[in-house]
Amino acid sequence: MRDETYGRVFDWLDSARDARLRAGLVREVRPRPADAASLDLAGNDYLGLTRHPEVTAAAADAARRWGAGATGSRLVTGSTALHAELEAELAAFTGFEAALVFASGYAANLAALTALSGRGSLIVSDAANHASLIDGCRLARAEVSVVPHADPEAFRKALDGHPGRALAVTDSVFSVDGDAAPLAALATVCRDAGAALVVDDAHGFGVLGDGGRGAVAAAGLAGAPDVVATVTLSKSLGSQGGAVLGPARVVEHLLNAARTFIFDTGLAPAAAGGALAALRLLRREPARAPRVRDVATELHRRLTAAGLAAARPDAAVVSVLAPSPDAALRWAARCGDAGVAVGCFRPPSVPDGVSRLRLTARAALTDTDIDRAVEVIPARAPGRH
Ligand code: PMP
Repeated sequence: MRDETYGRVFDWLDSARDARLRAGLVREVRPRPADAASLDLAGNDYLGLTRHPEVTAAAADAARRWGAGATGSRLVTGSTALHAELEAELAAFTGFEAALVFASGYAANLAALTALSGRGSLIVSDAANHASLIDGCRLARAEVSVVPHADPEAFRKALDGHPGRALAVTDSVFSVDGDAAPLAALATVCRDAGAALVVDDAHGFGVLGDGGRGAVAAAGLAGAPDVVATVTLSKSLGSQGGAVLGPARVVEHLLNAARTFIFDTGLAPAAAGGALAALRLLRREPARAPRVRDVATELHRRLTAAGLAAARPDAAVVSVLAPSPDAALRWAARCGDAGVAVGCFRPPSVPDGVSRLRLTARAALTDTDIDRAVEVIPARAPGRH
């Protein structure tokens, strides 16, 4: 009886799993050891701060002082003095009037898009935008126009003549190919159309701009009255969490209207304390940012010289093309077996359906590390090993 009725509710999952198997798109979680010996070209700890003693000590102190969790949403008990300090210092560092911290970059993106649009408004979104921006568009109840990648004229056409509120949204550095958005041209298009510009600077913050102030600052747009940036605290700052940066009235609106701010438990104090310590370190040691860019450029130069096809990196992400999802997965596994951890992007994480190895440059990589990457990765490419 049981098996014939409600026991079969999830039977459809078996055919979904079979379809994934046939397409070579099965995903699995592989817990890493705390003391992994492999060379890390897969993580997003761009500035090498996640294990910096000042950062881990600040995180531990925050947990001891404030507790392991925030205890409530930001508007109830979830805001500590650390959150306020972090917001003030993030805004000052990036050149924006105000900042609002969220439990993740994902939540920050959902907040910016949903609270700044709505029914009757228009969002124009780059086709290669991150999933969190895509989800923000879906939740916003606005009209959404997805335009070809990195094409300001396509944004202009889509914005043209819209009678209501409008905003354009783009990643600053695209997470799959590592290329930078044409931010200055997009800002001009938005200004001509009377639209706001929202930039997800997850991969630019800490890497691009003077001392790592980000891609928005590098484009001369930080603090502009019509520009909003979002960042994650989980990449360059080696912690966890996210933030929206913008004019004070935007932040005040988000605090009152953004559901991922109001209904989500505040960022854990340890993460806020760790991010704050990392931000202070970056201010003190600005050379970490250009070092990441130099490592990325060198990795790209030497891997392409070894015959691999890779897009030129504009920040830390170096993306190497693979012939198929299966081949990408096997290639990544062979690199892992040889002690070099690399990321593997397959559909649906790649908008064009082309699988890639995704390598991330980090400030802490030495010339010997780069030599090792160049020795291991091309030699294990499909058809070569
Ligand atoms: N935007 C981009 C471009 C990202 O790559 C990521 C993280 N993968 C996020 C947003 C989400 O940030 P978080 O991991 O802090 O939620």
